[in-house]
Amino acid sequence: MPVESTSAAREVADRLGPIAALDQPFGALTTYRVGGTAGVFAALGGPADVEAAVAAVSATGIEVIVLGKGSNLVVADAGFPGLVVQLRDDYSEVTIVTDSGLAIAGGAVAYPVLARRTAAAGLTGLEWAVGVPGSVGGAVRMNAGGHGSDTAKVLVETTLVDLGGGATSPQAGAGGVASSGSGQVDYRTVPAADLALGYRTSAVTDTQIVLTAQFSLAPAPTEECEKAVSEVVAWRRAHQPGGQNAGSIFTNPEGDSAGRLVDAAGLKGYRLGSAQVSSKHANFIQADPAGSADDVIRLIAKVRELVEQRTGVLLQPEVHLVGASL
Ligand SMILES: Cc1cc2nc3c(=O)[nH]c(=O)nc-3n(C[C@H](O)[C@H](O)[C@H](O)COP(=O)(O)OP(=O)(O)OC[C@H]3O[C@@H](n4cnc5c(N)ncnc54)[C@H](O)[C@@H]3O)c2cc1C
Repeated sequence: MPVESTSAAREVADRLGPIAALDQPFGALTTYRVGGTAGVFAALGGPADVEAAVAAVSATGIEVIVLGKGSNLVVADAGFPGLVVQLRDDYSEVTIVTDSGLAIAGGAVAYPVLARRTAAAGLTGLEWAVGVPGSVGGAVRMNAGGHGSDTAKVLVETTLVDLGGGATSPQAGAGGVASSGSGQVDYRTVPAADLALGYRTSAVTDTQIVLTAQFSLAPAPTEECEKAVSEVVAWRRAHQPGGQNAGSIFTNPEGDSAGRLVDAAGLKGYRLGSAQVSSKHANFIQADPAGSADDVIRLIAKVRELVEQRTGVLLQPEVHLVGASL
């Protein structure tokens, strides 16, 4: 559903010129492939575009959302009136220094691509990431993980910019540099230790954009790394549904699994309109093709309510909702 362009969105589009456009698909760019549009969408291909975006945000005060691969987002059908930015081009590159075990990746690089590239280079530590269909930037923000590992275990540092004018730091007391907030661009390289990386959380804020990330990996025989990648792919195929979803809806409560609780509440296969709890994995909610994001959001809220009633546990969402809250 198109959102009405606000004057801020129109001004941002004017300022950004050819890299931006009004009323663009947003929900359609997520792995749910449902949901509304963005007031203005900008593809940031390099530092000049990032700097133009910072200036446009500073001048208009428009609300911003950073879109990675959209694999952890549900965008309400009403859409988002503000600015959606997505990294491209310069931020899609990977450099691997095999001798020192370093991999440097742009924020737009697909995590599965980085997993396969590092495995092929004989570096171990990111094989599990082949199962995470997000971007490097989204993986840092979410501290993505799986198969007993997570991004925090291999991340060295990240370079980020605050699109909101640089007024916030990734973590209070993290040595963050508060910039003038006048549109001046403040590139900051933040060590992983200062990102407060926790279970699917980090101190990266809504207005900060992860441009690059550096990972430290260990040398290992290439065939072993590639075998580990294949095993993760096979495990995912066996245990997780395909189709339109955003992976795990809820985080696992301490010592338990959200999927087990949803299953125990009798909700596997439970349907609301065009959204359904997967019958393969109870912590996944599927959207029907051409379905409604609002049905997905209503079902998330309903499952949460029923699980609490039936098991006493209030589940916390792992997915980020845009234009809605639980
Ligand atoms: C089938 C499937 C399986 C999944 N399995 C896993 C799994 O095993 N483990 C796991 O952890 N997750 C999993 N996920 C969820 C998802 O892939 C991860 O959360 C991933 O890290 C999200 O990355 P993204 O680029 O898609 O982010 P998006 O969904 O685009 O955004 C998620 C959040 O990150 C922010 N963000 C995105 N890019 C940037 C950036 N460059 N800079 C700053 N912030 C940014 C967004 O603003 C948003 O707040 C799965 C999802 C699917 C669909």
